[in-house]
Amino acid sequence: MAVIAKVIVDVPTMQTDQPYDYLVPEALVQAVQPGMRVVVNFGKGSREVVGMVVDLADAADFAGELKSIKAVIDLAPVMNQELLALSKWLAASTFAFWITCINTMLPAMLKANMEKIIVPIVHNEAVDAMFGDQSGLLFDQITDLAVMGQLMQWQQAGWVTTEYRLKKNQKVKKETLIKPLLNRPAYQAALATVKKNAVKQRELLEALMQWQDDADSPKLTSINKRFSRPQLNAAQEKGWLAFEQREIYRDPYPEMANQALTQPLTLTDSQAKVVASVSAAIHAASPTPFLLEGVTGSGKTEVYLQLMAEALRAGKTALMLVPEIALTPQMVNRVRGRFGAAVAVLHSGLSDGEKYDEWRRIERKEASIVVGARSAVFAPLENIGLLIMDEEHETSYKQEDNPRYHARDVLLHRARTHQAPVVLGSATPSLESRARAQKGVYTLLSLPERINQQPLPDVHIIDMRQAVESIQGDFSKELLDALQMRLERHEQSVLLLNRRGYSSFVMCRECGFVKTCPNCDISLTLHMDSHTLKCHYCGHEEPIPNVCPNCGSKKIRYYGTGTQKIEEQLAQYLPQARVLRMDVDTTKKKGAHARMLKQFGEQKADILLGTQMIAKGLDFPNVTLVGVINADTALGLPDFRASERTFQLLTQVSGRAGRADKPGHVIVQTYNPDHYAIQFARMHDYEGFYRQEMQLRHQGDYPPYYYTVKVTVSHEDANQAAKAAFSLGKQLQGALGSAIMLGPTPGAIARLKNRYYYQIVLKYKHEDRLLEMLHLMRDETQKSARQGFTIAFDREPQSFI
Ligand code: ADP
Ligand code: ZN
Ligand code: ZN
Repeated sequence: MAVIAKVIVDVPTMQTDQPYDYLVPEALVQAVQPGMRVVVNFGKGSREVVGMVVDLADAADFAGELKSIKAVIDLAPVMNQELLALSKWLAASTFAFWITCINTMLPAMLKANMEKIIVPIVHNEAVDAMFGDQSGLLFDQITDLAVMGQLMQWQQAGWVTTEYRLKKNQKVKKETLIKPLLNRPAYQAALATVKKNAVKQRELLEALMQWQDDADSPKLTSINKRFSRPQLNAAQEKGWLAFEQREIYRDPYPEMANQALTQPLTLTDSQAKVVASVSAAIHAASPTPFLLEGVTGSGKTEVYLQLMAEALRAGKTALMLVPEIALTPQMVNRVRGRFGAAVAVLHSGLSDGEKYDEWRRIERKEASIVVGARSAVFAPLENIGLLIMDEEHETSYKQEDNPRYHARDVLLHRARTHQAPVVLGSATPSLESRARAQKGVYTLLSLPERINQQPLPDVHIIDMRQAVESIQGDFSKELLDALQMRLERHEQSVLLLNRRGYSSFVMCRECGFVKTCPNCDISLTLHMDSHTLKCHYCGHEEPIPNVCPNCGSKKIRYYGTGTQKIEEQLAQYLPQARVLRMDVDTTKKKGAHARMLKQFGEQKADILLGTQMIAKGLDFPNVTLVGVINADTALGLPDFRASERTFQLLTQVSGRAGRADKPGHVIVQTYNPDHYAIQFARMHDYEGFYRQEMQLRHQGDYPPYYYTVKVTVSHEDANQAAKAAFSLGKQLQGALGSAIMLGPTPGAIARLKNRYYYQIVLKYKHEDRLLEMLHLMRDETQKSARQGFTIAFDREPQSFI
């Protein structure tokens, strides 16, 4: 009987977003399984493409003649049944293509041995002229920039697509080691035959003799500086040494390898209660998720650790998500410190190779605990007994590109599959989660007190409108004095610069001219280190002008408060202070973030100055002052979550002070001292904030009272984009029940990379038909891709601008 494989091909278009039937060749019948990637001939010209086998069947649904699978890429499935099913669910719930979801879930490294091929989707004169009778063009062989540019435009317009194909000779990452072949006396003998003036040869022989005594053979890389490859080759010919290839094992945290594991702490009463509730759920049949509301420093992490231990004791595995890189160093250290090599770590700071190695360790069941950022939610763990999301309110859990998923939703979905409890932890839960706990969808647990019994820090609000006289640069007198005092007492301070929006730009003080990007309707951002203005959207870069391009005035200045500017001010007002500046620019290099935190922990700096990334999770006992330079930059944004974000940020950053035995002090500079978000943050009153914010959300018909979807349409012609948006709007309007439609409106950045954007926001409560309708719309607009439209759907968008 024939075996049919259902294959999702790696051609991300609407037309191909379904499994295709392929015959499994006789020789492979035993080998092919769902979750394996295969090579198949596909479509016009029968070009070879990669596909994922999602199912096997006895009979085909397709009536015509079947093609056979050409080759397999994976010898074993790279996705198990649970993850395959998850990928399908993800596609349906995010409006993304199934193959896009599959690709998102697999480590990049798996796809690294692929080459890129550009193939036509649409056939018209221009496209046919470019491709002739070739079914595709090899990306690497396109050297003509004009051709490349043309193809890029076509790809954006949906005329062509890029596919990945197996490279002929794939490379496995290996390192070369040197193996000494002789014993000591034989090397002595060889040494006697070498001329006195052949210094390098003698040196090599001596070294080989040494290495021969060592247990591990040394790496070629480590001796490369001393001996050239020809010298080593010559030695190999003489039979002095051999080269050995070994697959590189990449340990992202080598320094932790030999540390003794930490012991569980004796829990406080409130911690013990939390641990008891969740532990019971680990052993229960179908537990409900938990929301753990615990003030900063209440010992949530210790709770997580003991719960993970419980899951392991139950013979299960545990998955823990943490927000992007900022939080990982300290959190990872604590988890690795308790569980050692049982922990696999997945986050974007790792190289593809490191990620792949960790992924493989999980797959081979060598790791039973996974800690990672957003995409770690797809870790191939089996038999999961506990799922944790720390700082569950963080926006980095939402992916902004296709598939636009929220890791919390995926986590909850996997929890249902595994019948395991979820713990969503935060000092400032998202309104959505807190409201669900209110309704009993989640069980609410709380840790209301700090472990060290220290009261939460005193928060002092400085009204910057009143302070005008005494302000120096961006500093009030109070803040400067407080910093000065910490210097004298040898205590540390954290300074936060709230940098949402586009703060550092160049503006002419004479005529108000602002330098904007030639491709996008957005002002260019100032980068002092490279002395350029950059567009953060398209990458355009140009030198900083000396005179105003508009009026010729020399009074063209920097505006906004960048971290660099604050750093300069600190150097001026507090010259003796050692300042560590932490922002996207200083933490670009791999490991830079962790290194800087380590320095600060070792008290090699007095002040840690940074953007949002310093606000969370860091635990430094000697920090007694936290200063917020500008609390309200986010309040001005046209976003209904502005207050929530401001409250969260202030609460998180206040939590950095006074974590050990010294009391903490917080100074918040603001132009809106009476704003409720700032006042509730001052009182550390999350519940108060929650109640007031819920009222406002109710009045405005915002989440969590409503669900939201953002539909974005773009085209390179402004009129076309508008026309399409309004016709979509009409179509939607007709289909809406009680849902509310906002727009169409031009995007906040109306033009990006020379495309024009329009958006429609839909707010709804129960609208089964609406989602169906959106799926239909997606399919229809995909068909019109040849006219150059793109359409994107974003459920529960984190930003409306
Ligand atoms: P959170 O994650 O809630 O901000 P942490 O887990 O970082 O809080 O705990 C704050 C501090 O208290 C840490 O230094 C931690 O080691 C310590 N701690 C936590 N639980 C206990 C406990 N039961 N006994 C003693 N110290 C504890
Ligand atoms: Zn000017
Ligand atoms: Zn631009």
